[in-house]
Amino acid sequence: MNNERLLSLFCELVQIESPSRNEADMAARCEQELSDLGFSVEFDNSASSTGSTTGNLIAHLPGTHPGSIVLSAHMDTVEPCVGIVPKVENGVVRSEGQTILSADDKAGIAAIFEAVRTIVEQGAPRPDITIVLTTCEELSLLGAGALDISRIPVDAPCFIFDADGVPGTVIMGAPCHRSFAACFAGRAAHAGVEPEAGISAIQMAASAIANMKLGRLDEITTANVGVIEGGSETNVVPEQCMVRGECRSLDKARADACVQAMSTALENAAKQFGGSVEYTWHEDYGAVRYDDTHPLVQQIKRACHRAGVEFRPHISGGGADANILCTRGVDAITLGIGMTNFHSVDEYITVQDLEDCTKLAYALIEEAVKA
Ligand SMILES: [Zn+2]
Repeated sequence: MNNERLLSLFCELVQIESPSRNEADMAARCEQELSDLGFSVEFDNSASSTGSTTGNLIAHLPGTHPGSIVLSAHMDTVEPCVGIVPKVENGVVRSEGQTILSADDKAGIAAIFEAVRTIVEQGAPRPDITIVLTTCEELSLLGAGALDISRIPVDAPCFIFDADGVPGTVIMGAPCHRSFAACFAGRAAHAGVEPEAGISAIQMAASAIANMKLGRLDEITTANVGVIEGGSETNVVPEQCMVRGECRSLDKARADACVQAMSTALENAAKQFGGSVEYTWHEDYGAVRYDDTHPLVQQIKRACHRAGVEFRPHISGGGADANILCTRGVDAITLGIGMTNFHSVDEYITVQDLEDCTKLAYALIEEAVKA
């Protein structure tokens, strides 16, 4: 491992602008890096459905030994990301302050590249290596959703370098996500002249929401109403009101129950006020849940030991590419990379975490070689 080369690659990558849907420059730089290492690099056809300037990058390097591994990260970033200038001070990398740093997820990419470069340079035994770099992760995981799964070895473990928490952090569980959009229809009337003739869609929506259990429902289930929109003027009984919300759970049955309860609250409110409601639920992604004995987790534990980092199991409240890939039949698990205050201009990563992340990626590749 060459720590200087790692840091300089990371600092170079963060300076390539790659907001979601504009990852082409970043993809070209990654293609160059991987081709140089002997990978065959291809792009899938996801650009037409994600609206990105590039497809997802999928690269293969044949192994010298049996075994197979998939290493993954995402190429896009949130904003503000124009003109990122990284500065390294006292072992910490930050932006100059007006932008994010984009350690999310360029630290993951830099770590994967340096780990692979080290293995290739050393001529060390290695398994088949597949690298998957997605687009549009920050746009509700669009890139992973459109990923051409047929191009990746489905039976290989897939490690996604894209969580906060120091290297060694392992996202053992992440909730499924369901969202709804509901539209209440009442009847418009003059609010002063004949309110009796009206049915307030806003009142229906308010009643429905008041009868929902929201927030943290139990230790693994949450629910939220996030958007409400309706009415036109104060002197009109509102005819329409739109409500959008979601629920999440690590457990499918609890998510089902929550969906049922929220739907009942919507319907009861419409009935009570004599209006109507139309709603649809969307399953955004399924849950991720691994237990301690899962071979993937065992593999990570051994790699943590090899890399000298502590194994730290963690449950996340949010979704990531792993949710999509698990739903699509890939054994994918998300790993902490040390990024801190991500999605903000205060984002930073320590040089130590960047190096530990690379050591862990290296150890995971070693662990994937079958004896
Ligand atoms: Zn990320």
